[in-house]
Amino acid sequence: MKDRVPAPFFSLLQETGELAERRHVRVYAVGGFVRDLLLGIPNLDVDLVVEGDGIRFAKALARRYQARVTTHNRFGTATVTLADGQTIDVATARTESYEAPGALPTVKRSSIKEDLRRRDFTINTLAIRLNADHLGDLVDLHGGLRDLQNKTIRVLHGLSFIDDPTRVFRAIRFEQRLGFQLDQDTAVLMTEAVKMGLFHRLSPSRLSAEFLHVLSEREPVKTLAGLADFNLLQFIHPQLKWTSGLARLLKAVEKAVAWHAGLSLGPLASPWVVYVMALMDQLPQPAVQETLARFTFPRRETQAMLWWANTQVRPYEEAPLLRTLDRTVKPSETFRTLRNLPDETLVFLMAKTRAKQKIVDMFTIYRRMKPVLNGTDLKTMGLKPGPLYNRILDRLLDARLDGTVETETDERRLARRMAKQS
Ligand code: ATP
Repeated sequence: MKDRVPAPFFSLLQETGELAERRHVRVYAVGGFVRDLLLGIPNLDVDLVVEGDGIRFAKALARRYQARVTTHNRFGTATVTLADGQTIDVATARTESYEAPGALPTVKRSSIKEDLRRRDFTINTLAIRLNADHLGDLVDLHGGLRDLQNKTIRVLHGLSFIDDPTRVFRAIRFEQRLGFQLDQDTAVLMTEAVKMGLFHRLSPSRLSAEFLHVLSEREPVKTLAGLADFNLLQFIHPQLKWTSGLARLLKAVEKAVAWHAGLSLGPLASPWVVYVMALMDQLPQPAVQETLARFTFPRRETQAMLWWANTQVRPYEEAPLLRTLDRTVKPSETFRTLRNLPDETLVFLMAKTRAKQKIVDMFTIYRRMKPVLNGTDLKTMGLKPGPLYNRILDRLLDARLDGTVETETDERRLARRMAKQS
């Protein structure tokens, strides 16, 4: 562990173990952090499990580091946020029982052994003890290390997916992300869970959260193909099918998202939207509306997705966007047509339409262009302030974009001419 995490982070874990010792509780690092540590994948997103009162321990840890702590009493969990932004999730060791498939579990305090037994896959059941005298001891009660070595995703028991159907999505995410294989019995259980239609019982917010996790993977297309293999696209919408056309569009989306990421404009706020737009693209507009009404996506993103569905159903003559993208037009026309669209939509249009160059120019040239003159300059030139100013500035920008003015003198000349004609 010492060799695989940054030194300050190791000290933090070490001091956490010392604090645990002083407070007479046992503390373990668990789950994804341990899995990734053993695989050599950088991950400082640490989850702690406390045999004892997790919330009290989290508060003590927060005092020790003068950190912020937020608590969730119902679940016995807390999040400690250190001054440098590092967060540590702390949970009381607990058992969970499920009253109905897909429902949230009932929670009771227990031991690490019980806590690990409620987890999804063997590779996520590994724990590392942090207490000073046992720092670094690996707890492997379900053959997690063996499955990590064999690159296998395996559930702990036959009812796992019935207890929590979202684990089917999780299995596919880990399979694709880590390049692991599904254990044969686990794959059979997944197929059965899909056939049983357990997903219909998940609440929209859980289904949405799971779908977002899939789309937020580093390579979402692989994960979506994995969902399709298990016939799971039907839970996005029953009419949604994996076709070669969809696969091609998703690949093009992946390329466009990567291209945008290389522009150093800052990352897209919601890259996942671009993938949903591609998924929705083959659906008729009412099906898109149904899907977006069912998922609890944020408003801005939902509007962007609906916008595209609506754009396509309008008659061609009434869809200026499509016409502008199709024809050779002046840069100013491209700019005016595209300027109010969110970045995610532009990236999607880049993948979807033949107008790639227009979108490239939009991001790299048009959006950066400005006239040299501003309102104050127009005033200094003696032009009378009023709505004319906006018209002049708009026109100056068009002229810049189209290359019909090149210098400040050109701009002044154009501004004067417009003022005279008004
Ligand atoms: P990621 O790298 O995607 O964050 P992770 O394993 O850290 O992977 P989390 O969703 O943060 O995933 O969950 C932390 C741990 O909690 C998991 O490693 C697993 O042990 C457990 N866990 C999470 N979700 C479930 C679930 N639905 N059923 C059972 N155990 C779960």
